[in-house]
Amino acid sequence: MFLFANVSARYLSAYVRQFSPTRLRDRLLTCGQRSVETALIDFHTHSTASDGALTPSELVNRAAAAGINTVALTDHDTIAGFVSVAHSVPSGVRLVSGVELSCQWGRVGIHVVGLGFDPTSPVLLDHLDGLDAARLRRAEMIAQRLSKKGMQEALEGAMTVAAGAQIGRPHFARWMVKKGYVQNENDAFKRFLGNGKVGDISTLWPDLGRTVETIKSAGGLAVLAHPLKYRLTATRLNALCAAFVAAGGSAIEVINGRPVTGDIKRLVGMAVERDLLISVGSDFHRDVEYGAGLGIDTEGFLPGLGVWERL
Ligand code: AMP
Ligand code: MN
Ligand code: MN
Ligand code: MN
Repeated sequence: MFLFANVSARYLSAYVRQFSPTRLRDRLLTCGQRSVETALIDFHTHSTASDGALTPSELVNRAAAAGINTVALTDHDTIAGFVSVAHSVPSGVRLVSGVELSCQWGRVGIHVVGLGFDPTSPVLLDHLDGLDAARLRRAEMIAQRLSKKGMQEALEGAMTVAAGAQIGRPHFARWMVKKGYVQNENDAFKRFLGNGKVGDISTLWPDLGRTVETIKSAGGLAVLAHPLKYRLTATRLNALCAAFVAAGGSAIEVINGRPVTGDIKRLVGMAVERDLLISVGSDFHRDVEYGAGLGIDTEGFLPGLGVWERL
């Protein structure tokens, strides 16, 4: 418990209570028999506007059918999907504006989710224009690197796969599978596109501070996405959180995909320590066997902690 030395007694006791064995057992027992007070939300999802498989309208329809009350479409570096569906959301589900912004913290590529911003904010739209250009430039560089590996015309190929979506590495991966250069998309990342591989070019993004400021100036809340996915040491992760707080960040994502109890405890602890809110999301891209479906049950979290209470 030394980890939580700076946390107020009120928060600490509430935090521990949240995960008491009885609470966990009750939650497990009600699993699958959705109780009336169950609050399903999802603040991290992708559509065909970036690298997801469902169109924005298919996504919000699926959210409504799943009984989700609030959802955010958080495509990579674009709000085109959100804008296209914002005025035709099925009844029963509330759509919050969202985006997952690529940025840099030193040499590390970081994702910041923006929620509840004004989608007409000139500062935000300007930032997104910059990201469009950066993604296009990066795609050209990836294609050049792949051509040196014997894969020609990758840019044209990936653009065709993207079909107007915000271009990203998954489109290159799908093209490489189609051409038979790799077995599957995971293989494409492992051999060519993932961390430290030829197609990994991450020095083009705006910095973390500017990214958080942009979301804030558009009236939104900035969420540090999937903090455990950057594979940072505990010390570096603490430094990242400190930089995020200093920039004006509001929350950290404590569930990304399938809930992992150990990760949730650690991340909720980090949020509470720094007076940050928490956010949760499936990071849904497509239906995958054993993958997370849409919707996260927020019933087990303490009142007052969730960004969903502020949006
Ligand atoms: P980008 O936004 O262009 O940097 O591409 C990153 C995206 O690639 C992530 O948001 C994931 O959706 C996807 N991705 C990352 N790693 C893998 C992998 N090993 N296999 C398939 N897709 C991946
Ligand atoms: Mn993605
Ligand atoms: Mn991400
Ligand atoms: Mn995502």
